Amino acid sequence: MNVNQQPHMATPYGQPQPGYQGYPQPGYGGDHVPSGYPAQYAPYNGPGSAYQQGPPQGTRGPPTSGAPPVSGAQNYSQFGQGENQNGPPPMGAPPQRPPVSQPYTPGAVNLPGPQHPYGQRFGAPPVSMQHMTNQMASMQVGSTAPSPAGPGYAPPSVSQAAVSAPYTPAAPPTFPPASTASSQPLPTEALAQAPPHSYYGALPPVQQPFQNAVPTFSSAGPTQPQAPPPVSPQSFPQAPPISQPPFSTAQVHPGPTQSYRGPPMASQGPPMAQANHILPTQPGMPPGPINASLSGPPPQPGMQGYPPQQNGAFGQVRGPQPGYTGPYPGQPNYGAPPAAPASAPAAPKRLDPDSIPSPIQVIEDDKANKGSEPFTTGVRGQAPPLVTTKFQVKDQGNASPRYIRCTAYNMPCNSDMAKQSQVPLAAVIKPLAPLPPDETPPYLVDHGESGPIRCNRCKAYLCPYMQFSEGGRRFQCGFCNCVTEVPPNYFQHLDHTGKRVDCYDRPELSMGSYDFMTTVDYCKNNKFPQPPAFIFLIDVSYNAVKNGTVGIVCQELKTLLDYLPRENPDVESNIRVGFVTYNKVLHFYNVKASLAQPQMMVVSDVADMFVPLLDGFLVSVSESRVVIESLLDQIPEMFADTRETETVFGPVIQAGLEALKAADCAGKLFVFHSSLPIAEAPGKLKNREDKKLVGTDKEKTLFQPQVSFYNTLAKECVAQGCCVDLFLFPNQYVDVATLGVVPTSTGGSIYKYTYFQAPSDQERFLNDLRRDVQKQVGFDAVMRVRTSTGIRATDFFGAFYMSNTTDVELAGLDCDKTVTVEFRHDDKLSEETGALMQCAVLYTSCSGQRRLRIHNMAVNCCSQLADLYRNCETDTIINFFAKYAYRSVLSSPTKNVRDSLVNQCAQILACYRKNCASPSSAGQLILPECMKLLPVYLNCVLKSDVLQPGADVSLDDRAYLRQLVSTMDVAESHVFFYPHLLPLQKLDVESMALPMAVRDSEERLSRGGVYLLENGLNIFLWVGVSAQQELLQNIFGTPAFSQIDPNMTSLPALDNPFSKRLREIIESVRAQRSRYMKLMVVKQEDKLELIFKHFLVEDKSNSGGASYVDFLCHMHKEIRQLLS
Ligand SMILES: [Zn+2]
Repeated sequence: MNVNQQPHMATPYGQPQPGYQGYPQPGYGGDHVPSGYPAQYAPYNGPGSAYQQGPPQGTRGPPTSGAPPVSGAQNYSQFGQGENQNGPPPMGAPPQRPPVSQPYTPGAVNLPGPQHPYGQRFGAPPVSMQHMTNQMASMQVGSTAPSPAGPGYAPPSVSQAAVSAPYTPAAPPTFPPASTASSQPLPTEALAQAPPHSYYGALPPVQQPFQNAVPTFSSAGPTQPQAPPPVSPQSFPQAPPISQPPFSTAQVHPGPTQSYRGPPMASQGPPMAQANHILPTQPGMPPGPINASLSGPPPQPGMQGYPPQQNGAFGQVRGPQPGYTGPYPGQPNYGAPPAAPASAPAAPKRLDPDSIPSPIQVIEDDKANKGSEPFTTGVRGQAPPLVTTKFQVKDQGNASPRYIRCTAYNMPCNSDMAKQSQVPLAAVIKPLAPLPPDETPPYLVDHGESGPIRCNRCKAYLCPYMQFSEGGRRFQCGFCNCVTEVPPNYFQHLDHTGKRVDCYDRPELSMGSYDFMTTVDYCKNNKFPQPPAFIFLIDVSYNAVKNGTVGIVCQELKTLLDYLPRENPDVESNIRVGFVTYNKVLHFYNVKASLAQPQMMVVSDVADMFVPLLDGFLVSVSESRVVIESLLDQIPEMFADTRETETVFGPVIQAGLEALKAADCAGKLFVFHSSLPIAEAPGKLKNREDKKLVGTDKEKTLFQPQVSFYNTLAKECVAQGCCVDLFLFPNQYVDVATLGVVPTSTGGSIYKYTYFQAPSDQERFLNDLRRDVQKQVGFDAVMRVRTSTGIRATDFFGAFYMSNTTDVELAGLDCDKTVTVEFRHDDKLSEETGALMQCAVLYTSCSGQRRLRIHNMAVNCCSQLADLYRNCETDTIINFFAKYAYRSVLSSPTKNVRDSLVNQCAQILACYRKNCASPSSAGQLILPECMKLLPVYLNCVLKSDVLQPGADVSLDDRAYLRQLVSTMDVAESHVFFYPHLLPLQKLDVESMALPMAVRDSEERLSRGGVYLLENGLNIFLWVGVSAQQELLQNIFGTPAFSQIDPNMTSLPALDNPFSKRLREIIESVRAQRSRYMKLMVVKQEDKLELIFKHFLVEDKSNSGGASYVDFLCHMHKEIRQLLS
């Protein structure tokens, strides 16, 4: 299929939205907004019926990726009364607390807004006690005296970093960013060695001949990264199109292959089974002087064919990879090249990997070109540095790339161009992203009692795209062009350029990102929210006790509870906590401060879950510290001898949900769970693991939940603002696809520790838990993306729930989560005004304040395709494609999903070739400069475990990864699909710089080296059999390869500069990622090496995934077919 032409939405482009034009303008003092829809987030006058559900067509999934479609009525609205969301109510009287010309004062840390009743305690919530008819036992728990309160937080590094760092910015905002400082991993302890269980279980033994090929990467290569790619032939008159040397190499005889729009190939055959005849025209010929579309300048002597990086037109051809039997068989036909130069190396047979676009080179070039200057966001349509480049951002009117990255910074003006190019138009948005310490977090803006000022028609919030006129009395909306009166208390004069004279004093007029204080109108039920609560629900069945998690969790919570999120370092957290343990029954605990001992209440009738106690379940940590500590000491003892192996799961989430309902607050559940919930209860599951379905048309069912119970439950959780984080400790299949429905619909996270063993895995789990509990999170969130007339947000990817077509509802939104939004044209865009988008997230902060986070983004619009291709970001396109493909597996066979991805990318590249590249021989593969890595990265997505699993990848792993990728930002997806591989033998301990990474291929590994590989989830230390003794001595404390213990999970702390620097590097890499990465040491030629090789993504994979070289040839063939 092809993505952009998929008619999954019925509204044709350009068709006006019902009611949009004639929308009554309520405005200030104007008519009331009709109450039929939630107006704050409904500029389009209610759900566009055309975008309503319908059976997904092709591989196009349902409109939300968070949860599979929930059966039943979709009328759920988070805010029962649309008017609650309407923002400013009609202003009959002038506001009483006018912030009139009150200049924005960055120093005002404390919220000037109305005093909210945050301090109020949870009284006895109005819950009918008649519900307590279930069997319930009340008993005293244990008898030991409570342990002394308030132990110091054991790991010192976190206690400082985590607490003070985020809250000490000199900058004014009251919204402290959850800076990465808080995620600093704790100092590692050397743990007893446990066998590092295979990441995926046993792997088939494969021996590949080791090739000692270490190419040199000259950073002084002749590439000209900033040279624009060709616009049109005219732009490069110097390029002689005819006499141009046909150095391009891969000529593909098209052969009788399928037409590109044809049906997918038969599923039983190997994918893309056509012969891939590659005819090198001039193998070995160094790239000659070529026109700009082909590459940079001619190679320097001794460059060995490396140069043609520039545009992906590439040179030499070498033989096929040894043993390659992948999906593109039949490449033997490397015929005699016509007119091979005499000086060429003898009979090279396949593409030289050094001559095809190198990810490392692109990354290094970007660092060199964009890493030194701060990136200022004031220039519309400017693509930011790559995610792999370190850079500082200055907000000058558009959101930082840390918040929003776009696939294209120059969008086509109309849908025809967009369809022709097939380039997806999408933004990856991370609304609460942490910022580095040297960047200013968003300011908090207060417009007073009338709330944030907004466009009367489309409800966009005041932003730099609003044009003031009539001396400052009105402003015209940049999104919908409607003119709105400026409220009298906000009036300000304009200067001679038409700008308000206070423009630069007000973040909402000059910056891309800021927060708004809101009013009670933005709150559920017109009531300011209570502070949120955290509820810890701990599996105490036999498996959980035996693997040690019960003891570890309880021990950790005793100290971790002192580090709950807070907004001001001087004030303790407002978050209340509660505790539940469970196996096939649930145990609630009363930890009221006045009790001498905690009390347990057992609910064994799990069919109709209720909370057996109201007073004393959710408490303040500081008030109930003694009782809580006593409880956490006693839980492991109480269940130490349990024989109960069965667990429930649905009732556990219901219990947490009911408790939040009773307390009338939002919150987060932390569920620690070990096994498939087979006990008789709602949400009971059966083991349906069936590997025979892999690769069949029924494979999709394995990704779908096996019961609809959890979809319904998720919907209820979202309505309450109940976010669920799930920590899994499975020893066998637990059906992650089903258990993950609630977390992935509520903005939650899933953590999975398969075959958890305390000695080797506890460090990873505890670091994840600490970060998860402490991180910045907004509750009860609703996100809306508004756009210029001409495009609109039509599709969304992430961990959320949608009850209509525009509002992204997140029970919780933490600082790691992204939402990817796809845009489509519904009219023409103008080159003059560009395309604007505004992302507004309404949420409850951890202290209970209702706030808005606003991000604005403007991109250019173009009428020439070349401009589009010159301003794309491949990393973001890959992020989008991965999420799109990973959602599509819910509804289509994986093979179809892969084929459609290949097809769409071939169309993207063929369109470039046809419309933008200079004329050249058809045998040349010409890639746009910005997209020259599209093939290599696309191949990594295609051969990932979700889309093309090896026999060793479990269904749970695939479901887990699928859900994980759906919320990744661009940096995470980049390293996940193309791992970072560092040659440590080149490490200079005197320098803070890291050695240049090498490409993910076995050919790049030297037997004499040691390499660090990380992908955001794992860190490997690969040790070559001939590694220098000094290197080994410095790292491991032994010069002998044979003495290295492959089971170690941390490196010995040796007193030498190399050891220190290496451990620093590992810690800093960990600190950059949202999940703690366990270290695995892999010795060359050891059996564990197979796991490591899985991540060498440029090589062919055991599961049949193609090598980069082979895939590039395949893409070339596909492109040629499209062009012929
Ligand atoms: Zn508007």
